[in-house]
Amino acid sequence: MRAAALIVAAGRGERAGGGVPKQYRMLGCKPVLRWSVEAMRASPEIDRIVIVIGPGDEQSFRAATDGLDELEWTTGGDTRTASVSRGLEALARGEPPAAVLIHDAARPGLTPAMVARLCAALESVAATAPALMIADALKRAGDDGAVLEDVPRTGLWRVQTPQAFRFTPLHAAYRALPSTATFDDDLAIARGAGMTARLIEGSPALMKVTAPEDFVQVERMLTAGSFVPCVGTGFDAHRFGPGDHVTLCGVRIAHHRSLVGHSDADAAWHALTDAILGALGEGDIGDHFPPTDPQWRGADSEVFLRHAVDLVTRGGGRIAHVDVTLICEHPRVKPHREAMRVRTAQVIGLPLNRVSVKATTTERLGFLGREEGLAAQAAATVLLPG
Ligand code: MG
Repeated sequence: MRAAALIVAAGRGERAGGGVPKQYRMLGCKPVLRWSVEAMRASPEIDRIVIVIGPGDEQSFRAATDGLDELEWTTGGDTRTASVSRGLEALARGEPPAAVLIHDAARPGLTPAMVARLCAALESVAATAPALMIADALKRAGDDGAVLEDVPRTGLWRVQTPQAFRFTPLHAAYRALPSTATFDDDLAIARGAGMTARLIEGSPALMKVTAPEDFVQVERMLTAGSFVPCVGTGFDAHRFGPGDHVTLCGVRIAHHRSLVGHSDADAAWHALTDAILGALGEGDIGDHFPPTDPQWRGADSEVFLRHAVDLVTRGGGRIAHVDVTLICEHPRVKPHREAMRVRTAQVIGLPLNRVSVKATTTERLGFLGREEGLAAQAAATVLLPG
């Protein structure tokens, strides 16, 4: 059966961190979306691929699919249902396919074997999808967590994507929907139109990535054994001078003196940037941002840190963990430590439990003990393609 793939990548989901919609975040050595596109391209049953992207995402989409030809794309609507509808209309132009597999880009664990099983199932049924049996006990609970009811789990399944359909009846079902209709998935629309549907055994690797923790888990499943952990370290110190605050890990802290430096003198993020560059073997922060260059005068050190993170991403790697130690008598770090962790985790795109910020003193010894300056050291564990 001639099948087309419709990959829905129009979501704005940024809960995964990293400042971009999750379908364009790196997972292992490639963007989340690319995993699914490559699986569809590797499937002999699929002879046409349409991707629905968000308005304004064209540049991200082109970067994520760089080098992959014969991809068609269209822009999505306000809801998933509206986006799928637009994708189906794109497929209906030209010669419509016999079948369509509708897949969420946020499920990167797709394999050609799963595509083959879905296409085979469509020989005897009008709609099908992979699904997993529920192993946990089910309860209905109130907003406060109070258990209200036991729900029997017999016969209940968690449904994944791709969901596969005979094209013509599904297209007709979508065309019959009111323009404001929203559904959780496409099987619901197919069943509403009277199409017969059957579930097939799904795969844990097809889980949806939503939270930063999901990226870690799925990446482990998809890339087991193919990364080498590289650890880099960094150190930085800045002298105190006149002023009323210091900036550490991007957090402004009131203090009776400031740190002197060409940029914002954020010694913590300078040490961390050097640690990441060290793991990459990419020299040090001064190589990338020369202190003699006037454009970095007073610069926000977030620029330096983001640059190092981008180098990791461009090299197909990812940062697994960072640990920053501040060394000073004053200001007191502890009241600001959580804010520093949160800011650092945001910029790097890591879950909070992969970011450590701690502090120590030198027992009043040396230049740090005399409070002539403040120092920071950092370690970064970076997973690089082996
Ligand atoms: Mg510095």
